[in-house]
Amino acid sequence: MNILQQEPIAALATAPGIGAIAVLRVSGERAIEITNRLFRGKDLTQQASHTAHFGTIRDQANTVIDEVLVTIFRSPASFTKEDVVEISCHGSEYVIRQILRLLLKEGVRMAQPGEFTQRAFLNGQFDLVQAEAVADLIAADSEATHRAALTQLRGGFSRQLKALRQQLIEFAALIELELDFGEEDVEFAQRDDLRQLVWSIQRVLRPLIESFSVGNAIKNGVATVLAGKPNAGKSTLLNALLNEEKAIVSDIPGTTRDVIEDELFIDGIRFRLIDTAGLREATDAIEAIGVERTRQQLDKAAIIVYLFDAAETPLTELEEVRAELQQRSVPYLLIANKMDKLSEEQLAQWQLQFGNELVAIQANTGNNLDQMTRRLTDFVRSNAVPGSTVVTNLRHYEHLTQTDAALARVLDGLDAGSTQDWLAIDLRDALRHLGELTGEITTDDLLATIFSKFCIGK
Ligand code: GDP
Repeated sequence: MNILQQEPIAALATAPGIGAIAVLRVSGERAIEITNRLFRGKDLTQQASHTAHFGTIRDQANTVIDEVLVTIFRSPASFTKEDVVEISCHGSEYVIRQILRLLLKEGVRMAQPGEFTQRAFLNGQFDLVQAEAVADLIAADSEATHRAALTQLRGGFSRQLKALRQQLIEFAALIELELDFGEEDVEFAQRDDLRQLVWSIQRVLRPLIESFSVGNAIKNGVATVLAGKPNAGKSTLLNALLNEEKAIVSDIPGTTRDVIEDELFIDGIRFRLIDTAGLREATDAIEAIGVERTRQQLDKAAIIVYLFDAAETPLTELEEVRAELQQRSVPYLLIANKMDKLSEEQLAQWQLQFGNELVAIQANTGNNLDQMTRRLTDFVRSNAVPGSTVVTNLRHYEHLTQTDAALARVLDGLDAGSTQDWLAIDLRDALRHLGELTGEITTDDLLATIFSKFCIGK
């Protein structure tokens, strides 16, 4: 691939605000030469790639703006594959502004959000899935999101899909060739081989598609509704959980949300505890999961945790609750609280009746809480194969499902002995979705949408 060196751009690569040091990144044609004009120290234009040089940045009046360390990366051995200079200066907003101003005077322009990564993508540094993983990695705020992003950054599923897409292109070309022969009854593309190929692509696609529910949970947090009658011990449990797990408790005043949520990290997985005010207010258990407001909360849930006072709740009541919960296709956990008020026998009775749907705890001492949290993480992990790639991005998920659907139509067509033109349409459709997924097919709109979500300097 030819490396394209575009007009030089610059931006602050580190977080804005005051810090010990800040890094300004310049990329593009003449990036080294331009920086050299502001720099007093060694002649940067004569230095090898991947070397760091101490010196000063001066303005036109030769006033020292700052002492800096300049690292140069020569094309193509850089993040963008262009010439890149990283200027490490002191993290003062004044210094940053002055250096940027000097760069702009020399003909550098301010980078758009994600423009560095976009250039890296256009120069073949990585595919689109990996480029998006850069953004995810930067945004990662838990161990699980970090792991998912890193796997994708390292090539994840896109390399495998690219190879399969290449094979599919060859089949599509043969089918198109058959079309050229029009009336003549020729078959260049071996139908059985095509079928095999479609199957092998589907074998790659399906686990990825299925991983999205987990991936989405990992990325956006698992919506967890904590329900139960007043006095069941919900507040006590919540406090115990938040302390026990040394959770980062944060209020997310979402722009589109009016509820406040607590966040809880268990084993690197983020659980979003959805405000259950509606549930706390209701007086009757059945009413509690029956009222409209509560229903709306439950509809948002990925997991429902139903807490009850084990000493005060008749068996029949809990059976009714369970019947309600079973009508939803959402996993639920029945938590028998206040186990200290129960005899061993009574406890055994609950266990017998509800098996592993039930965990008995003592919220006010935190007893058995670990068993409950383990059950929660199991729900999330049960679908995820350790070490496998997890799809976290909605755009990827949509292209994967569309490809799968198109391939299913190809198989149907093969079974029904469809004519070449029908097969060709479905193959093209599958190829297009696969290509858009990895970025082998792109449109300016698509790139603009993806990269505009990045922050400036990335
Ligand atoms: P909420 O209305 O569901 O939020 O319930 P609270 O968290 O306010 O708890 C109600 C009462 O039950 C409080 O007096 C708690 O101290 C008490 N409580 C909570 N958990 C336990 C427990 O495990 N054992 C006992 N004996 N009391 C508990």
